[in-house]
Amino acid sequence: MYRSVLISIALAAFACKGGGTNSASAANANSTGSTTQATASNVTTSDTGAATAGPTSTTGSTAPGSAGAGTPAAGGVSAASASGTSSAKPNPNRVPNEMGRIMVLEYHLITDHNGLYARERGQFRKDLETLYDRGYRPVNMGDVLDKNLNLPKGISPVVFVFDDASPEQFRYIDNNGKLEIDPTSGIGIWLDFKKTHPDWGNKAVFCLLNGASAGHNFFGDRGVQGQKSSWRFQKVKWLADNGFELCDHTLWHAQLSKYPDAFVQEQIARNVLGIDSAVPGYKIREMALPQGLWPKNRALASKGSWTDPKTGKTVNYSWPVVFEVDGGPMRSPYDPAFNPGSTPRIQVIGNAIESNMNKLEAAGNAYISDGNPSVVARPAAGAAPVAAKK
Ligand SMILES: [Zn+2]
Repeated sequence: MYRSVLISIALAAFACKGGGTNSASAANANSTGSTTQATASNVTTSDTGAATAGPTSTTGSTAPGSAGAGTPAAGGVSAASASGTSSAKPNPNRVPNEMGRIMVLEYHLITDHNGLYARERGQFRKDLETLYDRGYRPVNMGDVLDKNLNLPKGISPVVFVFDDASPEQFRYIDNNGKLEIDPTSGIGIWLDFKKTHPDWGNKAVFCLLNGASAGHNFFGDRGVQGQKSSWRFQKVKWLADNGFELCDHTLWHAQLSKYPDAFVQEQIARNVLGIDSAVPGYKIREMALPQGLWPKNRALASKGSWTDPKTGKTVNYSWPVVFEVDGGPMRSPYDPAFNPGSTPRIQVIGNAIESNMNKLEAAGNAYISDGNPSVVARPAAGAAPVAAKK
């Protein structure tokens, strides 16, 4: 067992790397499909849609009672007024398109340098600022699944996913017996950003390990970066209590492609047990494949069971979302080809966020809200622009 743990240290250090040829090509195929679809619909629609590029809202004119005047949807936070000068930057003329793509960003360490699996703290903060200024707001993957994307008009959703449960993401400081969130950890930076950007929600997905070493056990244990083992459950519970989402990333980052079915299910189910110990009754809806590697029996990534030999207790797991390691922006949940069982992500390396945003926006293929929860804004004005949501 200890040998396995040691192996997992090495794996965790190269966590989530995009080795899965299968997963990458599947997700790419997914991407290509949508581009074609979008192009086709532009070509076949009436003169008004594509020709009047720019300010015309395709839904504003056609949806009765829609947020044509630019008022935020009822119940939505007003992006325009909530947070000072920077909130005015999203172009109010961004054309709503709720069939467009959504970026799912994949982060690992938030630390003192940039790398394949590391984002420097200042750069991370800049990522948040860039996204905010360009009109993006975080949502949970659960919000996507539930089609609960009630954002103000002109605003785009973005999903943040943090893999591997490192102290660099969530670190406590013991201040004379009082635990405080380290402002230099990922969560610390997030919360500080939120202070000056109140409509930046506590929405992000944390894909957890609770049996890996080198601190990759619910954000640090056994003194790694000063983190006590006894703080682990408290951190996980804090995330759930404060609006973030918990996701299964296996017990110790096992390469699921290498193992028999029973082992695969044990790796996943033991982590379910760990999360349930921290947050009793928590309903997990997502898992992330370590290194993007599918088990031989792919179905076991999203559904399976394992019986603990010690207690005789059986753990069943079942969820709709399996995160790949890469593959580009995911489809809208309103797109008939939306397939959460193979959800592509974007590894945040270099300028990946900006280049993906630029590409999506230039192609008119970014998900942009119409501010009206009751209709789905479609990109082309002439042809069937609205449909009932859900
Ligand atoms: Zn990982």
